[in-house]
Amino acid sequence: CSVIGLFNVPEAAKYAYFGLFSLQHRGQEAAGIASSDGEKIYITKGRGLVTQVFDETKLTKLIGSSAVGHTRYSTAGEDSVLDAQPIFARYDLGQIAVVHNGNLTNAKQVRRELIKEGAIFQTFMDTENLIHLIARSHKEHLYDRIIEALQQIEGAYSLILLSRKKMFAVRDPYGFRPLSMAKLGDGWVVASETCAFDLIGAEYVRDIRPGELVVFEEGKEPRSIQVFEPTPHKCIFEYIYFARPDSNIFGKNVYKLRKAMGRELAKEYPVEADMVVPVPDSGVASAIGYSEESGIPFELGIIRNHYVGRTFIEPTQAIRDLKVKMKLNPIKNVIKGKRLVVIDDSIVRGTTSKKIVNILKDFGAKEVHMRISAPPTTGPCYYGVDTPTKEELISSRYSVEETRKYIGADTLAYLSIDGLLRSVGNDLSYCMACFDGNYPVPLKE
Ligand code: 5GP
Ligand code: SF4
Ligand code: MG
Repeated sequence: CSVIGLFNVPEAAKYAYFGLFSLQHRGQEAAGIASSDGEKIYITKGRGLVTQVFDETKLTKLIGSSAVGHTRYSTAGEDSVLDAQPIFARYDLGQIAVVHNGNLTNAKQVRRELIKEGAIFQTFMDTENLIHLIARSHKEHLYDRIIEALQQIEGAYSLILLSRKKMFAVRDPYGFRPLSMAKLGDGWVVASETCAFDLIGAEYVRDIRPGELVVFEEGKEPRSIQVFEPTPHKCIFEYIYFARPDSNIFGKNVYKLRKAMGRELAKEYPVEADMVVPVPDSGVASAIGYSEESGIPFELGIIRNHYVGRTFIEPTQAIRDLKVKMKLNPIKNVIKGKRLVVIDDSIVRGTTSKKIVNILKDFGAKEVHMRISAPPTTGPCYYGVDTPTKEELISSRYSVEETRKYIGADTLAYLSIDGLLRSVGNDLSYCMACFDGNYPVPLKE
C-alpha cells in the first residue's frame, strides 16, 4: 500500500491525488482521500486506480488544507470497497481518518478482544483496530489516545492520522515500511516514497524515524516524539522490487541499489553469454548492473505491454500462454540463436520465469541463463507485502536445481544473502525474513 498526508497546503486533496498517482505501483485495488477544512472531514474512496476513483468533481468536494490518501494492495482484509482506505470514524472527540501501510501481527487477537467487549467492526482490515482503540481510550487528548493505542498494536505500520485540526504521522519501532516527510510552501507532506515529493514539487526533509510520532498542528513547527525505542528492521524487499527506482527509500536511491545487486550477481554467478536481457520492468536496473560488471552487452530482448491491467477473462487451457504473452513479448530478431542471461528480481511461484524461458526458447534463443537479483523467497511476509503462502512459494519446496528444471532454464542462480548485504553496504538494519526466515515479530493467530 501507499500513504500520503498533507498539512497546511491549500487544495490539499488535489496534491494528495497527484501524490497518490505517483505511488500507484504500491497498490492498484482501491484508492481514497480524506480532507479537512478544520471543521469537518470529507472523504471519497473506491475500487480501482487513482484515476478511476477520482475526477474533477469529486476532488473539488474534498475541501480544506489538510488531507490524507491511500492506495490499496490487499494484504489484510478482503478485496472489497469496504476495505478501501482512509478509514473514517466519528467518535467522542470528533472525527478521524486513518491511512495505513503495513500489517499488524496481533490484529486477530486484538480484534477478538474488542469484539468480546462489544465493538462492532465495519471492515476486515487490521487498521480498524486502531480506530476502536483510540475511541475506547479514556485519555482526554487525541495525542495521548494515539500513543495508548500504539502500545497495544504490534507489527508493521507507517500510519497517517487526520483529525479536523491536526495530522499525526507514525512509524513502527522496526521501521518496516518507509515514510518520509517534506516541505511544500508553508506546509508539510508525508509520503511512502519520495517520488511523490518530486511530482508535487515538495522538498524532502527527512525520514520519519522508526518508533517516532510526528504531530502537525497549525501555527507550530512539527513536534517529534520518540514513542518507542527504535529496533530497525527496514524491509529490504522495498529495494528489490516494491519501491520505484526514482525513490530514495530509507535514505538510499532504489535504482542505484538495484544496479549494485546486479553487479554482485554478476560477480557471484558469471556465465558466458551474448547478451544480458531484463524481464521488464522489475529486472531492468539489476540487468544494467549485471551487464556493466560482466561486460556482456545489455539488450531489451523482451518488450512489455504497459496497458495490461487486471485480466478479467481467464484464458482457457488452450490459450493459457496468452496471459504472460499479453504482458511480455520477446524481440525475435534480437534473441534468435543467442545465449541469453535473463535477469529478474524474484521468482515467487515460478509461473513467470517458466513462461518466459519457454517463449524465449520457442523464439529461438540458444541458451537461457536465468539470474535472480535476490535470494530465493522461502517464506511469506507478515509485514505488508502480499507474498503467497509458504506452500505456494516454489523455493520453499524446491531446491535451486529443481526450480531450474521446472522453469526449463539452462542454468539458474540467485544472489546470495551475503551478496544482497554487500549491495546495501553491509548495513545490518534490514528485515530479510522472507529470505532468511528470521522474523523480527511473530505472527499471532
Ligand atoms: P512468479 O511468476 O514467480 O509467481 O512471480 C515472479 C514475478 O512477480 C517477478 O517478475 C516479480 O517481479 C514479481 N513480483 C515479485 N514480488 C511481487 C509482489 O509482491 N507483488 C507482485 N504483484 N509481483 C511481484
Ligand atoms: Fe520485507 Fe521480506 Fe521482511 Fe516482508 S519479510 S518486511 S517483504 S524483507
Ligand atoms: Mg516482474
